[in-house]
Amino acid sequence: MNFSDNTQNIITNAQRKLVEAFEKVDEIATFNQLKVLEAFQFNNVGQRHFAQTNGYGYDDIGRDTLCNLFAQIFGGEKAIVSPLIVSGTHALTLALYGILRPGNEMLAITGSPYDTLKEVIVGEGNGSLKDFGVKYSQIQLNDGKIDINKVLNSINKDTKLIFIGRSRGYEWRNALSIKDIAEAVKAIKQSHNDICIMVDNCYGEFIEKLEPTQVGADIIVGSLIKNPGGGIAPTGGYICGKSHYIDKIASRVTSPSIGMEVGSYAYGYKDFYQGIFLAPHTVAQAIKGSMLVGQVYSDLGFETMPLPGEKCGDIIRSIKFDTQEQLIDFCRAIQEASPIDSNVVPFPWDMPGYEHQVIMAAGTFVAGASIELSADSPIKEPYIAYMQGGLTYEHVKIACMYCIEKLLSKKD
Ligand SMILES: *Cc1c(COP(=O)(O)O)cnc(C)c1O
Repeated sequence: MNFSDNTQNIITNAQRKLVEAFEKVDEIATFNQLKVLEAFQFNNVGQRHFAQTNGYGYDDIGRDTLCNLFAQIFGGEKAIVSPLIVSGTHALTLALYGILRPGNEMLAITGSPYDTLKEVIVGEGNGSLKDFGVKYSQIQLNDGKIDINKVLNSINKDTKLIFIGRSRGYEWRNALSIKDIAEAVKAIKQSHNDICIMVDNCYGEFIEKLEPTQVGADIIVGSLIKNPGGGIAPTGGYICGKSHYIDKIASRVTSPSIGMEVGSYAYGYKDFYQGIFLAPHTVAQAIKGSMLVGQVYSDLGFETMPLPGEKCGDIIRSIKFDTQEQLIDFCRAIQEASPIDSNVVPFPWDMPGYEHQVIMAAGTFVAGASIELSADSPIKEPYIAYMQGGLTYEHVKIACMYCIEKLLSKKD
């Protein structure tokens, strides 16, 4: 691949504008790297924790120490970290079923939860929370912020769990900042300390110096094939927060009689330890890549979110294209620029759990891992591509050049 001078100039100019923004990203990454390193040292992590285990997995120190490590890093009392959790959706589902009981109400205060949770919460006859008599209501964001007055007025005697989605999902909005979350949590806790505040933390880990659990949220939940897996973890999810909630959720992860006393992993735990160790750096690579792509497309006249140079709240970059063709071309260029399956041409398809057709580019080592460079988008107006991840900044930069060449080759 030979990139034209024009393409290379676009990249160089964009990079120049981002010097200060990149310095801030590096500063956060160093802070978080130290936080993670100290947790490893405190927990005396050693080779013995990487061992393969089998059977019930009683006294599996690899599993137990991994849970303690995450709890310390994320500032929770306890954590559940497990390769037996298949995805972020599974982790969120376990947490919801662990805490909510018939007659309780779940109140989502950042609009619709992520698409794949809809069937979990209000599905009909599929074993959803609704089938078990759990009520649900939701409050839209107001100008991208939590409408705290409306939240306080909507809380009633049955409200048991308040749900916050930190990342944007498939919406044209920015992710919430930790400050936004801290303010909402404080306002709710002042009058309702008994309500569980749960944050869907997917794509948010290590973006800032603090996690939601470090500003008062009760529970955070996420996927190990996103940020905290560092691009190394092969599968899994985590749930972290207050002990009395984590214990209830542990009953759901396995069984009320055995909780987190069991669970083996014949593949061994090294990749989870190495993944969380690398995560602050990997997230910084993805964020810088995201900032570069945002700057480049903004310079080319497209709307992007967040704005170029603006602080990111998650690793996602939204780009609004003029046509469906541009959107599809963008995703295809990302795929072509991937180390894995670069020969595959992505097409829009009817994905289960999504309303519109979706196109997905993910040429990843870990199948579908979106901490690796990936892009996806529902095919609907306005034509917004959501790009995220990138194990190295250099790779995202190169992929960005593929995208520009494809775009400019079709102009005029
Ligand atoms: C990815 C994601 C999920 C679901 O995770 P899966 O691993 O895809 O099941 C939930 N919420 C948000 C915000 C996500 O980004």
